[in-house]
Amino acid sequence: MKPLRYALLSLLALLPLAFAPVQAADEIVVYSARNEQLIKPLFDAYTKETGVNIQFVTGQEGPLLARLKAEGKNTPADLLITVDAGNLWQAAQEGVLAKVESKTLHDNIPAHLRDPDGYWYGLSVRARTIVYNTQKVKPADLASYEGLGAAQWKGRLCLRSSKKVYNQSLVAMMIARLGEQKTEEIVRGWVTNLATEPHSDDTKEMEAIAAGQCDVGIVNTYYYGRLMKSKPELPLALYWPNQNDRGVHVNISGAGVTKHARHAQAALKFLEWLSGDKAQHLFADSNLEFPANPQVQPDPLVASWGAFKQDTINVAEAGKLQARAVMLMDRAGYK
Ligand code: FE
Repeated sequence: MKPLRYALLSLLALLPLAFAPVQAADEIVVYSARNEQLIKPLFDAYTKETGVNIQFVTGQEGPLLARLKAEGKNTPADLLITVDAGNLWQAAQEGVLAKVESKTLHDNIPAHLRDPDGYWYGLSVRARTIVYNTQKVKPADLASYEGLGAAQWKGRLCLRSSKKVYNQSLVAMMIARLGEQKTEEIVRGWVTNLATEPHSDDTKEMEAIAAGQCDVGIVNTYYYGRLMKSKPELPLALYWPNQNDRGVHVNISGAGVTKHARHAQAALKFLEWLSGDKAQHLFADSNLEFPANPQVQPDPLVASWGAFKQDTINVAEAGKLQARAVMLMDRAGYK
């Protein structure tokens, strides 16, 4: 009996080794609109922890989605990582993502930061808030996004171009909250108040505010964090608007498992891991964003900007209303 049992145990012990090479789950292919510098540390950490190898391709959001669509069922991609709920919503509309259900993802990611139908999940939060020149504006002068359309800001407002999806999402959310007519009035007020043509990016907008060309604007907080890290002497501060009503407009960067994933289970496991403590720090801190998982504390610099109430309308609305937002901004003369 003994030798036989021993032999059987030895055989069982060898089984996992024998099967390991045929398991398809030890590789995942990721298409990422987040750049290599931000995602590579995450991939390395995951590979170190699990042995799963991650191949990746980085690119701009639009071309990456077009590529995924063109490749169809031949795509090597298992997971799409991209920024802005508008882009994730678009990917789901184009039919390139798979619906996934996961208790881990539901527990870790608040409902407003993920697709109600389960096609994508937010992984970091980017707040688009008000920034002002501390030598020219008192926080008490500010209240809301709508307020920047009032006469007191005539010739004092700077904005980024309406072509950027961040502003399209912001206006889309305002349509969802305030209605189209009211939102159009506000956007017309912004345009009337502009000190200069809209800027090509948030950093240039803040530099104009710091230089006194204008006094106030709207930016994503991570650009503020980056700029203040390199030029802490700039007279700029953040303001959290709409704290007595809907809260600050937030957007996400996030991910979805692809519809034709060859390693769908492995991709889902990785996505779940991305929503956990360790990955949330790596994902959010590297770009000075807020973790999507509310159990995870932001980077100390990000935390130093203070706590704020965020708008908990589902970020999917940004996608649904994006086309209407673009038309509205066009009508209002916001370039
Ligand atoms: Fe950005």
